Amino acid sequence: MKLFNTLTRQKEEFNPEKPDRVGLYCCGPTVYNYAHIGNLRTYVFEDLLRRVLEFNGYVVNHVMNITDVGHLTSDADEGEDKMKKGAEREKKTVWEIAEHYSQAFLEDMDRLNLLKPHWKPKATDHIQEMIGQIQKLEANGFTYVGENGNVYCDTSKFEDYGKLAQLDKQPFRGGEAGARIEVDENKKNPHDFVLWFVESKHGDQEMQWDPAKWGAPWGRGFPGWHIECSAMSVRYLGEQFDIHCGGIDHIPVHHTNEIAQAEGATGKKPWVKIWMHGNFLVLKEGAKMAKAEGNFLTLRRLVEEGYDPLDYRYFCLQSHYRKELAFDWEGLTAARTGLRRLKEKVLALGDSEESLAENYMGPFTEAVSDDLNVAQGLAIAWELVDDAEVPDADKLATIKKMDTVLGLKLNEPIEFELPPQITQWILERNEARELKDWKKADKIREKIEASGKWMVKDGPGGTEVRPN
Ligand code: AMP
Ligand code: ZN
Repeated sequence: MKLFNTLTRQKEEFNPEKPDRVGLYCCGPTVYNYAHIGNLRTYVFEDLLRRVLEFNGYVVNHVMNITDVGHLTSDADEGEDKMKKGAEREKKTVWEIAEHYSQAFLEDMDRLNLLKPHWKPKATDHIQEMIGQIQKLEANGFTYVGENGNVYCDTSKFEDYGKLAQLDKQPFRGGEAGARIEVDENKKNPHDFVLWFVESKHGDQEMQWDPAKWGAPWGRGFPGWHIECSAMSVRYLGEQFDIHCGGIDHIPVHHTNEIAQAEGATGKKPWVKIWMHGNFLVLKEGAKMAKAEGNFLTLRRLVEEGYDPLDYRYFCLQSHYRKELAFDWEGLTAARTGLRRLKEKVLALGDSEESLAENYMGPFTEAVSDDLNVAQGLAIAWELVDDAEVPDADKLATIKKMDTVLGLKLNEPIEFELPPQITQWILERNEARELKDWKKADKIREKIEASGKWMVKDGPGGTEVRPN
């Protein structure tokens, strides 16, 4: 297998630390709101990575954290706490917000057919590990306490700080942003970042801990965002592991700081062998999609518009994870048509399976193992189903094997989710029909069909609604 490593900016032959076993860490969601479809694109990419690794025979230990504390609206320690903002918006406690949006995220993962990580550690359950890592950094001389009481990481003490983002080849990252946001006077160097926040700055923060419980001298407070990933990944995958993933926005700050923390604490280099980053989903006008900006698309919204979550998965599969992907509704509609046609062809193959069509399986394996060229894999799946020379039973066996990577549920009947309002109207219409109130039943049919997205049919079980 070949994978593109952000650290070396090259495609590399993949050789895991332990033969056949792969440690995989993926930065998880900050659970203060629904995930937007941009976030979900990154999780689709990570799912493809996991599936391709397993397809190649590796046993993967997959960890994805849940960020429920410490993530500020700017990655560089400025702005408000994201969880607190969510709680204020919805007049709930931060704990309730975390619970609600974690559940919603897991549902989204399920609907996109993303394999479940083996571990989903929550930041708030691992304060001890984070404090432990900060203590090690302190012992190794990489920290200082500011006048405000916060514990900072001293980035000038690392010889190779910023190697992932190649910061030595670029001007100070965030230079322009620094002009707009308040600069933290307590920092010795511009790239320094907070490991432990104390009460003083965020006095009304609900999530707080007293580090004295674990023998640390700093004030009561909460961890910085970056420390959670380095502390939890070491806890679940060991001091050195194979692959760490996230979106490209994490290269200059979050992942750069994670490397400093982990390597500074353990002294072992490299902490992570391969860094992989998914490029952004943007809206067609070129704007990136940001959760903090309020106006963003969720998977729920796509479902309300009559799409199946797997239509969105298919949409993502058509482009390479390292390329920016522009979203618009026409593109999603085309993906829906593509997925339905492919499914119809697969469903028409019957249900007996014979041998794998090696002349298709070989190129498919080669494509997906070449830095996840899944778009090419999908094209090969299409060629296979359209090849009149291959017997149906071989096609079915082969396509099912390919689908362990594609994850499109190709041999399952087409399913779609109805928005709650439509479900309600179906109930009301069935009731009206039972009472032989045909006028009312017709009115409800009109309401269901008014948006042009849904079509009503009367079946043996009553009202049936399908996407138009
Ligand atoms: P967050 O919940 O903000 O921590 O983000 C979760 C994941 O989504 C991270 O890996 C981000 O890098 C990634 N991400 C954020 N915005 C986008 C976007 N527009 N397109 C793709 N990935 C994104
Ligand atoms: Zn992370």
